[in-house]
Amino acid sequence: MIRVLWFAFKLAVLVAVAYWLAERPGEVSIDWLGYRIETSVGILLAAVVLLVGISALVYRAWRFLRRSPRNIGQSYQASRRKRGYKALTQGMVAVAAGEADEAARHARRADNLLDEPPLTMLLSAQTAQLNGDEAAAKRYFTAMLANPETRFLGLRGLLTQALREGDEPQALDYVRQAHAMRPRTPWVLTSLFDLSERCGDLAAAERALESAAKAKVLPAPEAGRKRAVIAMERAQEAARAGDHAAAVAHARTANKLAPDLVPAAALLAEQMIATGQDRKAAKVLERAWSAAPHPDLAALYLTTLKSDDGLERLKRLGQLTAKRPDDAESHLALARAALEARLWGEARRHIKDAAGPDGLDGTPGESVCRLMAELEERESGDSAAARSWLGRAAGAPRDPAWVCTNCGAVSAQWSARCGACESFDSIAWQPPPRVVPALTAGGDDVTAEIQGELEALPTSPQAAPVTTP
Ligand SMILES: [Zn+2]
Repeated sequence: MIRVLWFAFKLAVLVAVAYWLAERPGEVSIDWLGYRIETSVGILLAAVVLLVGISALVYRAWRFLRRSPRNIGQSYQASRRKRGYKALTQGMVAVAAGEADEAARHARRADNLLDEPPLTMLLSAQTAQLNGDEAAAKRYFTAMLANPETRFLGLRGLLTQALREGDEPQALDYVRQAHAMRPRTPWVLTSLFDLSERCGDLAAAERALESAAKAKVLPAPEAGRKRAVIAMERAQEAARAGDHAAAVAHARTANKLAPDLVPAAALLAEQMIATGQDRKAAKVLERAWSAAPHPDLAALYLTTLKSDDGLERLKRLGQLTAKRPDDAESHLALARAALEARLWGEARRHIKDAAGPDGLDGTPGESVCRLMAELEERESGDSAAARSWLGRAAGAPRDPAWVCTNCGAVSAQWSARCGACESFDSIAWQPPPRVVPALTAGGDDVTAEIQGELEALPTSPQAAPVTTP
């Protein structure tokens, strides 16, 4: 509007100037191509001014017309991009909301409107996944590898797919490529550790852990614990391969990083005992006992004694348990040794102390009940009392075992990964849950075992079934 007014104003000024010039006095005569023009000086000047003014206006109009197709094209493109980005955003929202059809519609629209494959390819891949079309998603992710800008995103998509398909070696390959591109990205480091460990490349897993700890991706205590577990796995591997030196080195690392990791201390002591280093092994076991008392440690400790004398063995165990004298495991170990040495009173005292503050009148655990049965049988041949204790053992709180804290599965041996749910470092020495997953040795086995022991006991005359001829 202002431009139109401005134009009208300029035209008015032009006409006014031309009129003023036309009114000026004086005559002019022009001979040109056989024509003769006679006029006043004012009219001629007015005609010249008008001609110049009109030429300028015509030039501007021509310039505007010449530019307009480009202007129209540019505004058309801008509008397309705007609509394309809107479709892209709506598509992302639909993916987040899990609306597959909606996402597919917006993905197609964005793809048509935007000439930017890096942006639309990810949406297309996610939409294909939402529609359950993993093959199409894989095609999109693979196509993304060709562009440096989208390569990392493509690798992440392919990694997720490989993990879902359970193809761990392939997943490890993708995560290694991603690591080469961005070595400090948290999910890359944790996935690299996890997959390297799963695929058995323990050295690579250890390196990934170190990088993760350095990049502060993992808190220091967690990284330390994981390193201990990996070192323990490497020690087990070396021990199986008969590489004594490597087994000792790795077990020592694991023992140092996690003094309460009983299997590491046990493996280290075992390797030392095998090469005659009994004193060193005993020191390792004593330290481990003060961190986490465990029956395996007591058994190994006794092998360093190289004697079958019951009294000597009891005395030796006293040295091991000295740092945790009130722990139930200490009392149980001493009770077993006292029974071996036929020191009934000593055995009874330790069994009672192992039962906890309420003693034998409370709810003593499985081991306490079994030891009491053994004591009654061996000290006085009281089969009835022994049977009663074995009966109590069947219903008593269960003894600690290697239990997966994630799924509750019980295993005979410690391992870095749970055999049932494959969780890493989830196996702990603790009482098993009452309901144990069917896959593993469960409560029924324990009850059956006690049933077998009950049947093996001599039947007392009172309890004998009356048979009539
Ligand atoms: Zn588990």
